[in-house]
Amino acid sequence: MPARRLVHHVEPTRYGVAVSTIKVLDESPHRGVKVFADYTGRITTSCEAIVIGSGPGGAVVAKELAEAGFDVILLEEGPPFGAADFRQDAGAAMQRTLRGQGTRVAMGNAYMPTMQANGLGGGSLVNSAICARAPAFTIESWQECTGIDLTREALDPHYARVEQFLGVEPTSQEVLGQRNLRFKMGCDSLGMSSEPTRRNVKGCKGSAECFTGCRTGAKRSMDVSYVPAAIRAGARVYTSVRAERVLHDGSVVRGIRGHVVEPFTSRESHEVEIHATFVVLAAGCMQTPVILQKSGLNGRWVGQELQFHPGLAVMAVYDEVIDPWVGATQGYHSLHYINEGIKLEVLWAPPAILATRLPGTGHDYQRNLLSYDRMAPFDVIAGAYRSRGRVRASKFGWNPRISFDLHEEDMARLMKGLRILSDICWASGAVGILPGINGIPDILFSRQEAEILRTKTFKPSDAVIGSNHAFGTTRMSKRSQDGVVDEHGRHHEIRNLYVADTGIFVGSPAVNPMLTCMALADRIAQGIAERR
Ligand SMILES: Cc1cc2nc3c(=O)[nH]c(=O)nc-3n(C[C@H](O)[C@H](O)[C@H](O)COP(=O)(O)OP(=O)(O)OC[C@H]3O[C@@H](n4cnc5c(N)ncnc54)[C@H](O)[C@@H]3O)c2cc1C
Ligand code: SF4
Repeated sequence: MPARRLVHHVEPTRYGVAVSTIKVLDESPHRGVKVFADYTGRITTSCEAIVIGSGPGGAVVAKELAEAGFDVILLEEGPPFGAADFRQDAGAAMQRTLRGQGTRVAMGNAYMPTMQANGLGGGSLVNSAICARAPAFTIESWQECTGIDLTREALDPHYARVEQFLGVEPTSQEVLGQRNLRFKMGCDSLGMSSEPTRRNVKGCKGSAECFTGCRTGAKRSMDVSYVPAAIRAGARVYTSVRAERVLHDGSVVRGIRGHVVEPFTSRESHEVEIHATFVVLAAGCMQTPVILQKSGLNGRWVGQELQFHPGLAVMAVYDEVIDPWVGATQGYHSLHYINEGIKLEVLWAPPAILATRLPGTGHDYQRNLLSYDRMAPFDVIAGAYRSRGRVRASKFGWNPRISFDLHEEDMARLMKGLRILSDICWASGAVGILPGINGIPDILFSRQEAEILRTKTFKPSDAVIGSNHAFGTTRMSKRSQDGVVDEHGRHHEIRNLYVADTGIFVGSPAVNPMLTCMALADRIAQGIAERR
């Protein structure tokens, strides 16, 4: 058992200071990782394989290639975060770990917030650790759409390898807490199937802090799992390095160019140039197209076909205390309507974020805040099969312009999910719900009042829709005229360039995307090693 020590956090708040104490691993999980302070001048080096981005896609490729004997460099723009670096205050946490300080939005017929991480481990650092295999029908629809030679059976061994390495297992009863159990109760009494989510955690304490960072080290995010394994196998890991352009002559890549960037300010310092036999882009669905476009590799499909799982949340209000901050962040879900592209989940986020959903001002708002210990948020994510958006590099800087229009058919699917959530709330003993939809009462006090969710039609701009599941901007296809990479992640024109993030998905996986991203990355790494 590794040694643990106590860490005390003291954070200023409006009313004084908040103090919390937790046990953290004594030993740094990031030993061997190069950080900003290590760089003293221009970096010029070479290797066999450069992997750009240390999220679920890049971390898997880096480990697998290093273990296969490749000389690997893994580049990550953000810094590493240890337990003592996490902030529980939502604003501070988002400012430190997320791109655009967590204020990124997709613009279109709805104003849709979308979050991407900027730190060692990518999205796995801030996500809820849900690991779900995509149902076979989604992979079949990808196959039909772009002709790729990929099936769920072909992905299964890769899913299994990733799950085994991470120790993915169902959330244990002991850490569910009332919030997750109320959701189960509601599903049970409606005769709907539901189950504990399978997650990449070991010894989860149910602290509900996945979004601001798991301070106990229970979450097996990439920075404490795949990245250390890559380092043990000989990979070099450089954090605070932004890859900006792929060096190529139109048919072959020979490396990348970029800059060292200061954590949290993104201020550029030393230049970086790394030569390599091949390059794997895993900078995420929003950043990989930017690198391609800035490198002059802006083929027809780059940045196009952006798809999301738009999500809506409803807050259940109970007449007894349930202490919603206790229990695994997203410990329960229902796949009962998954064939319709509707997934229902328990949710949690820091109070500062959820409290923005509470209605009222002045004393009313104060009263609502006082009921916080009797509330539980549940959410629906939906397949947006008819909706599309795109990602374009800005002329200056590295933040993309993101656009997305939610099709009315997909909005209808999302609203159906919200109605089912409302039914779950009542069936779980709620005495009120906060639907979070403009144009109807802020609080609905009975099933009858909630009928308005069935009788009225809503536009995307009526709802607070958000999404952190993004895909499609460098999609896989059989033929070069239909996508950016083939089903092995290999660029159609430049054969020593690969992509291994969720951008290669042809469409929605219907469930949370991380595990599918990792299974595909595992398959891509295996393909590279076989072709060596
Ligand atoms: C709050 C939140 C909760 C979520 N919950 C879940 C969940 O429970 N289960 C699930 O399946 N999915 C979840 N997701 C989605 C999931 O985390 C993402 O789909 C997943 O992380 C995508 O992996 P990726 O490798 O494609 O990209 P990312 O995770 O975005 O990783 C890309 C990495 O590349 C780095 N990078 C970007 N540009 C550059 C550059 N130019 N140079 C160097 N490095 C660069 C980034 O900093 C980042 O670390 C959640 C997402 C969020 C934000
Ligand atoms: S619920 Fe808490 S202990 Fe469990 S993985 Fe998330 S942050 Fe870590």
